[in-house]
Amino acid sequence: MSQESEYSEGDLRNTGMSLKHDREWDYELDRIVEAVEERDATKVGLQFPEGLKRRGPQVADDIRELVPDDVTVMLSGQPCYGACDLDTFLMKRTDVFVHFGHSPMKNTDKVIYVPLFSNVDVFPIMEESLDELPSPDAEASPDAPSVGLVTTAQHMNRFEEMKSWLDERGFDVRTRKGDDRLTHEGQVLGCNYASADIDADHVLYVGGGKFHPLGLAMEHPDKKVVIADPVNNVVTVADTEKFLKQRYAAVHKAMDARKWGVIFCTKIGQGRWEQAEEILEDNDDAYLITMDEVTPDRLRNFDMDAFVNTGCPRITTDDGPQFHKPMLTPGEYEIAVGNEPLDELSFDTFHGTW
Ligand code: SF4
Repeated sequence: MSQESEYSEGDLRNTGMSLKHDREWDYELDRIVEAVEERDATKVGLQFPEGLKRRGPQVADDIRELVPDDVTVMLSGQPCYGACDLDTFLMKRTDVFVHFGHSPMKNTDKVIYVPLFSNVDVFPIMEESLDELPSPDAEASPDAPSVGLVTTAQHMNRFEEMKSWLDERGFDVRTRKGDDRLTHEGQVLGCNYASADIDADHVLYVGGGKFHPLGLAMEHPDKKVVIADPVNNVVTVADTEKFLKQRYAAVHKAMDARKWGVIFCTKIGQGRWEQAEEILEDNDDAYLITMDEVTPDRLRNFDMDAFVNTGCPRITTDDGPQFHKPMLTPGEYEIAVGNEPLDELSFDTFHGTW
C-alpha cells in the first residue's frame, strides 16, 4: 500500500535526493598551512560540526601532506553544533586551531574559522517563493513592496546576489546586521534573529530546514515568514501553531513542579550565568546543574520535577519532548511559576558572545 507523502510535488524530500547534492568545499588549506608556518606550530587542532565530521580524516591527510612531518594534526571528537561550541580543551593545547562550518561568533586570533559555504543554487527556489511575496506591480502601487531578507552562514556567500536578484524584480529589500552574536548582515542563527528586526511585513528566509524560520516567525509574529529552502527544493510559510501548542503543553506540565533543575551550560558560547542566577535567587527549590552537553540521559538520574535550560535555546525547543521531565526556557519558567502571564510566552533568543 502506498503512503501519501506529506510533502508537495517537487519537494526533494519525497525522493531522498535532497541528500545527494554534490557539495565540495574550500577548506582554505593555504590559510591553515600559512598559520602553521608563521607560528612554527607543532600541533594543529581541527573541529568539524556533526554533519561534517566524516570529512575530518581526509582534511587531516591533506594538511599532513603540506606541513612538516613533526606537526601533529588532531581532530576534535566533541559534539559541535555552532560557532558558540568551540572545543576549548583542544584550542588551548594546539598552536593552530581551526573551526570548520560556521562563521566567527567572536573575532579572535586563537581560532581560524573556515565557513564552508553551500554550493546549492538558491535562485530557482527564490523564483518559486515570489508567489508568497507581495507582487511588485508598479501599476497597482508606485511603491516597491518591502521585503526583509535573511539567510544562514551556509548561504552567506550569495547574500549580495540574493539582494540584487530581489532588487531587480522590483522589491525594496531591507536587511540589517543583527547584534554581536552575528557576523554578517542578514545572517540568522537558531537562537538569534536580530537581523530580521526590519521594517517589512514579509521576510524571505533562504536556507535549509524549518527550525530557523520557525524561531524567526515566533520572534516576529507580526511578519509573514516565507521559507525558500534550496536544499529540499521547497517553498513554505512558517507556521508556529504546532510549535506553540508543544510549548504551552510543556509549561502546563511544569506548573506543579516543586524541585527545579537549572541548567548552566559550560560551553564557551552557551552560558547565560545571569539568567541562571536570577532563577536561583528567586526559588529555594531550584538547583544549579552545570554541564556541557545537555542530553536526556545525563539528566535522567536527577530527581527533579522540571528543568529550565539557560544554555542553547534549541535544546529546549527542538529536543524538549525527549527529556523525562518538562524542559523549559527561562521565559517559560517565569510563566510556569506564576511570575508572568501565559500570553507572555515567546521564543528564547540568545544575545552577545563571551
Ligand atoms: S546557542 Fe545558538 S548558535 Fe549555538 S548551537 Fe544553539 S542555536 Fe546554534
